[in-house]
Amino acid sequence: MTQKRPLFREVNERIRQVKFSFGPESRGNEILLCECGRPDCDVRLEVPPDVYDVVRSEGHRYIVAPGHEEPEAEEVVAGAPTYVVVAMRPEPA
Ligand SMILES: [Zn+2]
Repeated sequence: MTQKRPLFREVNERIRQVKFSFGPESRGNEILLCECGRPDCDVRLEVPPDVYDVVRSEGHRYIVAPGHEEPEAEEVVAGAPTYVVVAMRPEPA
């Protein structure tokens, strides 16, 4: 399941690039696809730009819809009513 994540991230980066092409004044909240990796999930999330930037600067953090986090594999590091930031736990040794 985790191997699906890079694809979702690529999609989100593309959405962002398209959005930016309309000009800097369009920089409101980022609209992201949920990165939980579930094949049937197409939830869109509205995320403040500063949160987006922090998460993107750390490759092991992802933004998912509330309730889409996986407590066994991920640790919730920040949350809001509309999104949850999770960090992948290190693989068990
Ligand atoms: Zn999801």
